[in-house]
Amino acid sequence: MDKTARMDVRKRLRLDPAAISVTVGEKGTDATPGVKGRKQAAKDVAKLGPKLADLQERLYAEGKAGGTRRVVLLLQGMDASGKDGAVKHVVGLVNPTGVKITSFGKPTGLERRHDFLWRIARALPAPGYLGVFNRSQYEDVLIVRVHNLVPPAEWKKRYALINAWEAEQVAAGVTFVKVFLHISQAEQRKRLLARLADVRKHWKVNPGDIDERVMWEKYREAYAAVLERCSTDAAPWYVVPADHKWYRNWAISHLLTETLQELDPQWPARPELDITGMTRALKES
Ligand code: ATP
Ligand code: MG
Repeated sequence: MDKTARMDVRKRLRLDPAAISVTVGEKGTDATPGVKGRKQAAKDVAKLGPKLADLQERLYAEGKAGGTRRVVLLLQGMDASGKDGAVKHVVGLVNPTGVKITSFGKPTGLERRHDFLWRIARALPAPGYLGVFNRSQYEDVLIVRVHNLVPPAEWKKRYALINAWEAEQVAAGVTFVKVFLHISQAEQRKRLLARLADVRKHWKVNPGDIDERVMWEKYREAYAAVLERCSTDAAPWYVVPADHKWYRNWAISHLLTETLQELDPQWPARPELDITGMTRALKES
């Protein structure tokens, strides 16, 4: 694939504000825009992996040399939409030393005593790192809205608070890659059934996930609001059709690679080092 085609994936998957109801509807969850099939996807990812690893290492080096830039891959999606699988895939492509993974569950007592963005800010990666958010600040306008965990007057304010906070982080050197893993209700049922049928997957079973399914419509509304209100130029949303795990992995690999290509981190120069002198000294040692 040539460079222009690669640069396409972000354009292709960037949320289309005019099509949000279609986006969060059942349509398109098994689409595979930009790739022919599983085999082609595997080939592309095999080629892309080393590029992504190189770019990530450059970013890491830049961070060590005083740079401030970092990237956050933020993953949201219904239960069984493949957030864990996506984390595993991405981490498998890069040097895990430069990765900081954070999963956001039900807030702890300590977290509850702070503003909802407190734990998110604490989880931001240091300069040079790739942060991965498995769930995020958006839970505070998703599950919280669906289950009325705080009064509407409070969660309604959060969209603007999130936008302002993200813009602030972007100005400080963070690039967000916000990914909505879009699966159908039928695919979710299939995956939850597969968990029940396999003793090796029972550890993942959460009886609550089955009850959550009746809230699907409410989640759809809540996701529509997130996409409508929080896809900004500073931090846009990408919608990744996620019924096919291979497509999800292909798409996220491209989104990350394209993002890093645009950042174009450079190996830091070390003009203060006397490379010639050190080389000579070492050779003579
Ligand atoms: P997955 O199903 O995505 O693989 P999980 O659901 O098993 O992961 P857990 O840590 O067990 O992950 O649970 C996370 C739960 O915490 C989710 O139900 C999520 O909606 C909930 N959660 C996350 N953030 C909040 C929040 N701010 N307030 C309330 N609940 C939250
Ligand atoms: Mg769950």
